[in-house]
Amino acid sequence: MLIEDGWVTWRRPAGGSLDGLPIARDLGGAELVPGFIDAHCHILPTGLDFAKLHLGQCSSREAVIEAVASRHSELAPGEWLLAVHYDQTRFEDGVHLTAAELDRVVPDRPVLLRHMNGHAGVANRAALKLAGVGPDEPDPSGGAFVRDESGALTGVLLERALDQVAKATPEPNVEEMVDAILAAGQAMHALGITCATDMMTGYLDLEDELTAYRLASERGCPVRIRLFLQWSAVLGPKAMDPVRLTEHMAALDPLRCRILGLKIFADGAIASATAAIYGGYAGQEAKTSGQLIYSPERLTSMVRVADEAGWRIAVHSIGDYSTDLVMDAFKETGHGDRHRLEHAMILSDDQIARLADLGCHVTMQPEFLVQNGRAYRRQLGPERASRLKRARSVLDAGIPLSFSSDRPIVAGSPVTGIAAATHRPDGFDQSENVTRKEAISAYTLGGAIANGDEGVMGSLNEGQVADWTLLPA
Ligand SMILES: [Zn+2]
Repeated sequence: MLIEDGWVTWRRPAGGSLDGLPIARDLGGAELVPGFIDAHCHILPTGLDFAKLHLGQCSSREAVIEAVASRHSELAPGEWLLAVHYDQTRFEDGVHLTAAELDRVVPDRPVLLRHMNGHAGVANRAALKLAGVGPDEPDPSGGAFVRDESGALTGVLLERALDQVAKATPEPNVEEMVDAILAAGQAMHALGITCATDMMTGYLDLEDELTAYRLASERGCPVRIRLFLQWSAVLGPKAMDPVRLTEHMAALDPLRCRILGLKIFADGAIASATAAIYGGYAGQEAKTSGQLIYSPERLTSMVRVADEAGWRIAVHSIGDYSTDLVMDAFKETGHGDRHRLEHAMILSDDQIARLADLGCHVTMQPEFLVQNGRAYRRQLGPERASRLKRARSVLDAGIPLSFSSDRPIVAGSPVTGIAAATHRPDGFDQSENVTRKEAISAYTLGGAIANGDEGVMGSLNEGQVADWTLLPA
């Protein structure tokens, strides 16, 4: 293989143990593969989370309280105590912490714990107060302030209610964002990732975020950046001026940083019982359960409006009920193959056939199976949980599939993801394993296809960027 100015200019005909994959050759024990493409992750949030309290090691409520108390003693007065990777499903009783429990150790400073899956949280009283959430606060649409039997707020926040409290936390300025993006880029690059797609750009402030992503890429961010902008930041009532958005797009070097489309959330997540599923959670009987973020009519119209404006659309859908609604919406656009279904964790045979028909791209995050197995079994029971993430069936149906991490909610090493996809952890149906070659391909070429970049990256053929990584055999 010959590399000039960062491009592959010549390549010997394929050969080696992973023949058929876009791989140059074997190097001793290691393999030279195209750089990994993390086509679904959260770049700025990854960098910002580095500064927050990490509760990933806390498997009891006491451990969480202790970590919170210890961080409390290190912070300046009035500063928010922000924690990530909180997960009540690791506790013996699986019951959420409450505002009252947090108040006992941190009475005077706002505290917000974010669930590992990003779809739930717990706030103490000071945080609720700063967010303007009083005892009679109505639930936002697409979210809930959890209450006890007496109707009092417990401090547990689901979906949009979490967003409502998170909005009260201090926002980073552009320079802080640039630093966070560069830090995230370095951490990803160390894992062999050469391109990453942020799936929620505009969640803080689209103007600042686009400026920060451009500056980070100009200042040598070691991963190429791809962006899906939040639907509301582009087409909602407080959307960015379209002329301004065009200026931003024109200012980007498209090889280093590029806007791909718009992102919509259709439902929540399994661990917080907010993914919209057929049937019930935790042994409950129901026709459907979980949280649709939008009504089916609203979702369809959001997809239509974005499609008509020429955008590619990526929709977060974890539950099977919500995935049916997303497929309905994609079908109505008349070209489902332009769009992306993110996660698709629960799929029936019929749904897989329908997805193949639609031709839309599916992204999956195999590392979820390693991290969340217990939570999935608790919420869905062992039967349904074992059939999550049917990568084998999806590939066999000819559906374009890519693997990604969804960091920062997981550590996000592609090597971990590949291992989880090829040898699904205990409790998960082994007939859905894919081969190593397929897994590497889903993390390289698959990611390039998901991003619409297959012409320039994802393989190490002539005319592609020379983004590569060495993979230990
Ligand atoms: Zn995500």
